[in-house]
Amino acid sequence: MPNSATSPTGRGILFIVSAPSGAGKTTLVERLVEDVPRLKMSRSYTSRAARSGEYDGVDYNFVSRQRFEAMAASGEFLEWADVFGNLYGTSAADTERVLSAGDDVVLVIDVQGARQVRRRGAEATTVFVMPPSYGVLEQRLRGRSKDTEDAIQRRLQVAREEIAAFAEYDFIVINDELASAVARLEAIVLAERARLQRMHETAETIRRTF
Ligand code: 5GP
Repeated sequence: MPNSATSPTGRGILFIVSAPSGAGKTTLVERLVEDVPRLKMSRSYTSRAARSGEYDGVDYNFVSRQRFEAMAASGEFLEWADVFGNLYGTSAADTERVLSAGDDVVLVIDVQGARQVRRRGAEATTVFVMPPSYGVLEQRLRGRSKDTEDAIQRRLQVAREEIAAFAEYDFIVINDELASAVARLEAIVLAERARLQRMHETAETIRRTF
């Protein structure tokens, strides 16, 4: 099934998924990579402390602020950003390793990070996940109940700013219902894989059999 995975000789595709905090992007992308073969979720580095139930090397690579800053200074990040006072970044080498092996990779990063990747001229397919409304986002953030009222207000304020960036992205997915939102994300990945530029060699091989 040529469209079920990237061409074996080809380079993988870089996907970026951004969304305001609380829009459910992590759950969505976790489901996506479970369902789609040869698509890996990137594991970011962060200076923030692990929350209960989070593990180093699983949810994030948790590092000290000092180590993070040293990595940033030596150019180890494809992009990095300060989000809610903590530093988050994507390792350039980790990303390159997946892409050059021919697998696709998805970065779940904020709007600032996505802008840096674009500015670098890296080829990426970008998706913005939106909650169905402000009211739904507020309900979800309160429902998580792990944040203080102050933290919730701060996240809502950032969400108001981030939502305005939707027009910078190639695709929009509204996270109204998990299963259908995952299905739409999958459709985006499969459509990217089916592009002529990626399928050209395979199609040419088939044509030669005629
Ligand atoms: P959290 O601390 O709740 O896991 O993540 C907070 C925010 O940081 C989310 O919006 C998430 O998308 C963003 N984030 C996580 N990893 C990265 C990264 O590597 N780069 C950037 N720019 N943002 C990230």
